[in-house]
Amino acid sequence: MSWQTVLGFEIHVELATNTKMFCGCPASHFSVAPNTQTCPVCLGLPGALPVPNAKAIEWAIKLGLALGCEINLLSKFDRKNYFYPDLSKGYQISQYDLPFCVKGNLLNHQVTRVHLEEDTGKLQHVGDKTLIDFNRSGVPLVEIVTEPDFISADDGVDFLKEVQRIVRALGISSADMEKGSMRLEVNISVRPEGQKELPNYKIEVKNINSFKFVKKAIEFETARQIKLLESGVTPVQETRGFSETKNETVSQRSKENAHDYRYFPEPDIPPLQFTKEQIEIWRSELPELPATTRINLIALGLTPAQANILVDSPIRLAKYQELSNSGDSKSAAIAVVNCSEDKLADLTLQKATVITDPATITPLVQKIIADNPKVVADYKSGKTQAIFSLVGQLKRQKPSLDATAIKQIIESQLI
Ligand code: ZN
Ligand code: MN
Repeated sequence: MSWQTVLGFEIHVELATNTKMFCGCPASHFSVAPNTQTCPVCLGLPGALPVPNAKAIEWAIKLGLALGCEINLLSKFDRKNYFYPDLSKGYQISQYDLPFCVKGNLLNHQVTRVHLEEDTGKLQHVGDKTLIDFNRSGVPLVEIVTEPDFISADDGVDFLKEVQRIVRALGISSADMEKGSMRLEVNISVRPEGQKELPNYKIEVKNINSFKFVKKAIEFETARQIKLLESGVTPVQETRGFSETKNETVSQRSKENAHDYRYFPEPDIPPLQFTKEQIEIWRSELPELPATTRINLIALGLTPAQANILVDSPIRLAKYQELSNSGDSKSAAIAVVNCSEDKLADLTLQKATVITDPATITPLVQKIIADNPKVVADYKSGKTQAIFSLVGQLKRQKPSLDATAIKQIIESQLI
């Protein structure tokens, strides 16, 4: 029998607000001495009252809008009750039945919901001791949940990368997975090819911190589950972790259901009511989203691969926008694509006037390109350094020309 993987995702993104979700402590907690950014609210001391962060709510809703969601005009926070040492209150303030955003769509996949909650503290295991740092406790966290409508790991990873680009375009988080600003969970199950219904179980793999590992976790789990199913056993519904050293998933605990959390409305925060006008104002403030940027760059004459180099890098994109404001957009885009990221700060566009007469140079460039098919093929396959061989040839013929300008002319001919 042939099998099909069924995948759904939960993505947590830490928002880069100045302050935490329900108190005035600084939200940025990287390279900060442990437990220096805490207060009675984020330590969960008795009697401390939460005050929601308006900026975090605005950003969560803007993210929902960017993901094509409908916005619930009436929304509220709920308590999700569970015990873990990094959760000092014994509950997390999250959203249950009235999240800010529902029913979105991205790359032909359905976004179930986007809600706002608070991050937990951070445990650190040192030898046989476990230390705890509450600087992260209460940092605003957006959770994006998808429908289980993915049937391939690659498709899933493409989706996750697009979410990361959108978050970065909005400027609401670094979405840096190494730092844990973006954390991935994937629900994996397997069904016979051709079956429409969802399998009657699912395995959740938590806290995956790279796109590479999410793919490996899916591949490992799919193979493990197929083996069980073929021996007549339904995999046990559970939460598993991913071991980066062994490249396999490991059982952590049996999966809890929503009712185990005893969700109930947060009594210290009244429900939130938005107006349609407010939502439309936020919609009008959305920046250009990656899908549009990509289309615009390709329309300028960039290849999809070159367009993605720009769209994938916030620093490159910012530099491109800066340069294209004062010069030719296409030259700006190409110069930024070909510049190494650490030298971007110094990159300036040569004025077109440096080139004496493009009409006399273009035929020379075209001849060099025609005479060097191997170099051109190398360049197009991504070995961008290959271009300097062509630059050198033209420089020998026209020594008065500026090498950077030559490089730009050749690049424009190579697209
Ligand atoms: Zn605090
Ligand atoms: Mn969550």
